[in-house]
Amino acid sequence: MGGAETLEEALDLTQAELDCSPDRFLKRQTFLRSHAEVPEAYAVEQQELVWQTDPAKFDHMLLRFAYANGEQRVVDVDPQMAARDWFVRTRFSVAVPEADARLLAVDMVVEKPRTYAIAREARLVGEAEAAGEHYYRSLIYALLCGLLIVPIVYDLFFMRLLRFRFVTWHAVMTLGMLGFVLSNSGLIFLFFPDIPLGVRWQLNTVTLAVLAGAAIFFVLSLLEKGKVPKKLSNVLIGFTALMLVIKALSFLDLEELRILSHIAFLYAMLPMSITLLVVIATALLNESRGAIYLLFAFGGFVIAGILALLTNLNLYHPPFHVDELVFAALVLLVLGSSAAVGDRFMVLRVERDRARIRAIKLGRIALTDSLTGLANRRAFDAIEEIGEEQALLVADIDHFKAINDEKGHTTGDAVLCHMASIMREEFAGNPASTIYRLGGEEFAIVFSCTDEAVLRQIAEDLRRNVDGNIGEEVMGIPHATISIGCAMGGGRTPHEVFEKADEALYKAKRAGRNRSAIADSGGRIEVIS
Ligand code: GH3
Ligand code: MG
Ligand code: MG
Repeated sequence: MGGAETLEEALDLTQAELDCSPDRFLKRQTFLRSHAEVPEAYAVEQQELVWQTDPAKFDHMLLRFAYANGEQRVVDVDPQMAARDWFVRTRFSVAVPEADARLLAVDMVVEKPRTYAIAREARLVGEAEAAGEHYYRSLIYALLCGLLIVPIVYDLFFMRLLRFRFVTWHAVMTLGMLGFVLSNSGLIFLFFPDIPLGVRWQLNTVTLAVLAGAAIFFVLSLLEKGKVPKKLSNVLIGFTALMLVIKALSFLDLEELRILSHIAFLYAMLPMSITLLVVIATALLNESRGAIYLLFAFGGFVIAGILALLTNLNLYHPPFHVDELVFAALVLLVLGSSAAVGDRFMVLRVERDRARIRAIKLGRIALTDSLTGLANRRAFDAIEEIGEEQALLVADIDHFKAINDEKGHTTGDAVLCHMASIMREEFAGNPASTIYRLGGEEFAIVFSCTDEAVLRQIAEDLRRNVDGNIGEEVMGIPHATISIGCAMGGGRTPHEVFEKADEALYKAKRAGRNRSAIADSGGRIEVIS
């Protein structure tokens, strides 16, 4: 880099040897220059050659091919050529000009490259071999894109059922991944052949940033509560935010930060990935179920990511091609994270259903009398109205205080329970009847009833039934009687109807107990028996 003032100077060419406008290189420039000798054996085997490299954004490029007979050919590569002649994954092809002698060396000068990969990834390959590779690799990437659509559809389906944040993050992560694979593989050129090189370059890194950021929030929202210390997840969020800020800085396209901001972006992935591993490991130690899936999902990706990063930064070169590992890890990430979503979704759904059932049970308990299992006063107060074809019957045990005093409180309770079961039996055949214990030894029954004649009959039947069915012979329960007051509902509030029925009850008590009385529609109170 540096040194020369112009591209042609960097290649030691004179202006006359170049077919381009002279003012093109007058601005302040930075160049990346490379020189590669072509091994003899290679040139013998391969007839038609293509030269390939990374199509990361650059302003201009000159290639000089030197042949054994002293001939030199210069190819002027403009950025859009990289888009037109795309080669699957991060490459594009330039046909090596034919000459009568074998190719000796290739010199390259790039103006304003965005990464060093342009020089590092350069290679010569036989045309036929390249075409074959292009075909099968494109096929694999197209298959991966298809595979990525499945979890997105699956997430949308889950989102319709229940809104969990981790499902949304999983969908965003997978979309980011789809964008990344489409853009990074070059398949995007099939859909948008005219996409500018700069836009595609940004798309590569933006989708990578989105995919990485969403993956972090996916993990944090998927892991069960309390499995990861708050401080640790905050550190992870901090590193993620840093990575996103650095990515955002590269949009400014500051001349000084051109290559630096990209390297900083890649470096920012490191602490984030390491913290992510620590988070998953911590959750695993805390017996998190989700972490098992996540370890499986991210393990390969994190290792491949770190290796790819080290390779990109020229720090370490693994003995195999990192791309293949990244590809395998990506598939693993999709499968593992989708399984994690499915599992967590099912667990949360079961938890939710349980909570719902518990709430229903609690609601029922709140409206139930614990001694007799009848509805309680709260349930009675919740009635909105007692209809025209409904009636209210209020029953009160006679001299209950005396039963309590003579036989004890436990026996008193047994009387209350027995009374409840007699009432249940009596009203078993009456549709939509509800029996309430209003408190103490006082009961209320709301039931369907067509008219006052039927009501009188029902009240008398109940009173007689109690009188005849409860006595010394029944498990030591003392004989007891009830007094009844009743009234037709008439579409009034329970409070209004209760007032009338209670007046009738009072009259039944005054009339000597073990009696029924009715508050009729004419406002009269009549003791039935
Ligand atoms: P009356 O014939 O006028 O209705 O007389 P009574 O003795 O039945 O009425 P009173 O209101 O004087 O007494 C009701 C008694 O009911 C008083 C209280 O000790 C008793 N009691 C209230 N709740 C319970 C309960 O849950 N269990 C038992 N065993 N007794 C209760
Ligand atoms: Mg009583
Ligand atoms: Mg009472």
